[in-house]
Amino acid sequence: MHRLCLSVFTAFFVVHAFTAGQALAQTSASPAPPTVYVKAGHLFDATSDQLRENVVLVVEGERIAKVAPAGEVAIPAGAKVVDLSNYWVLPGLIDCHTHLEVRADQYDPINEVRFTPFQGGFNGVVNANRTLQAGFTSVRDVGSQPFFAVDLRNAIDSGFIPGPRVVASGPPISITGGHGDMNGFAPAVHNMMYPDEKDFQIADGPDEVRRVVREQVKYGVDVIKILATGGVLSAGDKPGAEQFTYDELKIAADEAHRAGRKIAAHAHGTQGIKDAVRAGIDSIEHGSLIDAEGIALMKEHGTYLVADIYNDDYILNNAPAFGLPKEMVDKERTVGRLQRENFAKAVAAGVKIAFGTDAGVYPHGDNAKQFHYMVKFGMTPAGAIRAATSSAADLIDRSKDVGTLEAGKYADLIAVTANPLDKVEVLEHVSFVMKGGKIYKDELAAGKL
Ligand SMILES: [Zn+2]
Repeated sequence: MHRLCLSVFTAFFVVHAFTAGQALAQTSASPAPPTVYVKAGHLFDATSDQLRENVVLVVEGERIAKVAPAGEVAIPAGAKVVDLSNYWVLPGLIDCHTHLEVRADQYDPINEVRFTPFQGGFNGVVNANRTLQAGFTSVRDVGSQPFFAVDLRNAIDSGFIPGPRVVASGPPISITGGHGDMNGFAPAVHNMMYPDEKDFQIADGPDEVRRVVREQVKYGVDVIKILATGGVLSAGDKPGAEQFTYDELKIAADEAHRAGRKIAAHAHGTQGIKDAVRAGIDSIEHGSLIDAEGIALMKEHGTYLVADIYNDDYILNNAPAFGLPKEMVDKERTVGRLQRENFAKAVAAGVKIAFGTDAGVYPHGDNAKQFHYMVKFGMTPAGAIRAATSSAADLIDRSKDVGTLEAGKYADLIAVTANPLDKVEVLEHVSFVMKGGKIYKDELAAGKL
């Protein structure tokens, strides 16, 4: 009774304090947002596959007010100018599959019980900044402990720490014993880590799936991540095996969509991919063992493929030394090669592709290394860049804010020193990063080039 009264009183107080603050803000004139003129020698605005020459972007506050040929923009004397006349300017990049909580030098499954959640928090602060410095101004973070990505998103949005805009999922939803469960430990250890009231992750049957989706929405996630099939970096499951049934996936997709959220399905296996696509899931993550029927289904449903086709190199070369068990190394060896071949088939067939790398499996900040593989396995450089800009923005439901350089969008932009349409690998060395009109990296001004 006492607690109830107190909370009613607190709510009353907060409402009144908020109203008073708003009134104050309305009476004092707020200064006009500063205008910055960005001269772009070569602009890839991601509304087409073409470059535009000698363009000026007028940035007011955190958004772009105008994009026009240099001859049509009168820059007032004394105005703030960012001169990128000698460089190639692009929208800030978007990675649709990251795990900012995770370090790529900690593969040993025992870490699940060795570290406190604070470790993930520290990792997130460092990894978010590395990602931003690499030119990725938005990410979709698809799987971490509850509710790391939500808190990270809020800390970045409030300006407390630097990082990309985060589209946050909760923990990936898994069947008992599935890719997202904690397998290979004694039951007592599992129960200690996943007591009922903390279980936002394990669900069996449509009713539990519905409950877990609703719980995640309650705690602020932007997107739902579900594990449709087995995985590579987990014990005791097979990447090709179905995990959730079609009915469970359908409930998850419907419930996510009812809440206005998109839903991503981790799916390596052939049948699990098809079930997820038919269930109305918005993106297939990995897609390693997709067949011709699955490719046709993805085209028919307009489902995005988010295939992490760089990290195989990193895992096979580095992860065993960092504690990855042999079972998982063997799975990676089998699945990684097939994934790249099947990605090429999906690209050739015209499946929608969004850029996603599984960052965290390899070191954050190396995200752009995947462009090389996307071009090697069938995309044009412009197509690969649009997968990481306009298409990625469409998948993460942020097209009105990010993904292209047009009036009304956030001033999220990067610059590189060579033409990425000639050599896409130049994106591995981004020289300039602006997010929301604020400069986070400028090697050009610092004379480091
Ligand atoms: Zn992942």
